[in-house]
Amino acid sequence: MIDYHSHFASAIEALHAERRYRVFADLERIAGRFPAAVWRHEGQAREITVWCSNDYLGMGQHAAVVGAMTDAVACMGSGAGGTRNISGTSHPLVELEAELADLHGKEAALVFTSGFVSNDASISTIAKLLPDCLILSDELNHASMIEGVRRSGCRKQVFRHNDVAHLEELLKAADPERPKLIVFESVYSMDGDVAPIAAICDLADQYNAMTYIDEVHAVGMYGPRGGGITDREGVAHRLDVIEGTLAKAFGVLGGYIAGSRALVDAVRSYAPGFIFTTALPPALAAAAAASIRHLKQSGVERAGQQRQVAAVKGALTGADLPVMSSDTHIVPLLVGDPDLCKQASDRLLDRHGIYIQPINYPTVPRGTERLRITPTPLHDDALVAALRDALVETWTALGIPFASQRPAETERAEAAPALVLAKAGG
Ligand SMILES: *Cc1c(COP(=O)(O)O)cnc(C)c1O
Repeated sequence: MIDYHSHFASAIEALHAERRYRVFADLERIAGRFPAAVWRHEGQAREITVWCSNDYLGMGQHAAVVGAMTDAVACMGSGAGGTRNISGTSHPLVELEAELADLHGKEAALVFTSGFVSNDASISTIAKLLPDCLILSDELNHASMIEGVRRSGCRKQVFRHNDVAHLEELLKAADPERPKLIVFESVYSMDGDVAPIAAICDLADQYNAMTYIDEVHAVGMYGPRGGGITDREGVAHRLDVIEGTLAKAFGVLGGYIAGSRALVDAVRSYAPGFIFTTALPPALAAAAAASIRHLKQSGVERAGQQRQVAAVKGALTGADLPVMSSDTHIVPLLVGDPDLCKQASDRLLDRHGIYIQPINYPTVPRGTERLRITPTPLHDDALVAALRDALVETWTALGIPFASQRPAETERAEAAPALVLAKAGG
């Protein structure tokens, strides 16, 4: 007879053996003092600095956002009370969707309980509604998009990451009459690189395909109003669907899509992941709307983030640390080994009070294990200097190769483009 328990135990054992068992740090954020937090470990509580938060602009602690949330709780209570259909379409949600549609210059928007759910529910529903849809998916798409593609049951073809020529090859080979959906991201969160959005839209026009872009790592942070890379490049109108999260730069929780009225209404009407789950509570909707509203008219946070990102890239590169090239606010630091990556993370926390989560396979390819640093406007120059010193001590103590001790840039560029190291001083 099957021993159920031992199956789960051996599943966990396999993760330990591969050095990819995940351990969560017990952290307590301190309101008003981001990026400081309290770390609880072995019965002790210590104050540490978080360097890997996706609360990219610190909006999760912004007075306007916290105020909107507490006011809404005081006025409307905590929960949503049901699915949108039953009793959960609160006025703050209606306002939030109007705010989002405006942010992306679209006719309508639809809010989900998370970005993951919004991708899973929307991609699967859109593709299913089209007859015999062919999905073209970037090879580095996020798990939530892959899940949506998979659950659509439609045929999919994966194009090489950001490779417009490969995408065109696939589009050209497909039946011109067949409906097609291209799904991709604007900013890829592990390498911090940006998709050739306009070129992909050109192909979509040429081959009559629909476009679906995930702007999760860009909304709030790019463009004059924080509408993401599509806002910055003035191409939002060319995308059929823009998907985003309210949980990263906007600092709250929830996900959404924005698009034409008919498309958004169809997802609202057909997606089980939207219909059969309790709505986002009014306080979260009010807080997210306050955050979006603030970032539409304030560029201070975006400028501060870009300034501190440049400061971190400069400081680490100047100290010969292997900063991987990145076009955005994401600063990946190459370790190249899962054990060392975990050890580096542990040492930074233990010795230096710096929290940076190790990023190992399967989140990134084996051999490219890394620390992923996300500077915010609230990481000041003193924190940047402390980070640099702690990393140099850690790299030295653990014998992790510095940039100048690694293979030359050109060799790497051929082997794996994502691994091109940033030029000194860059
Ligand atoms: C985090 C993430 C999501 C999911 O968003 P959540 O709101 O956290 O569920 C979707 N897409 C990408 C690319 C992400 O990194």
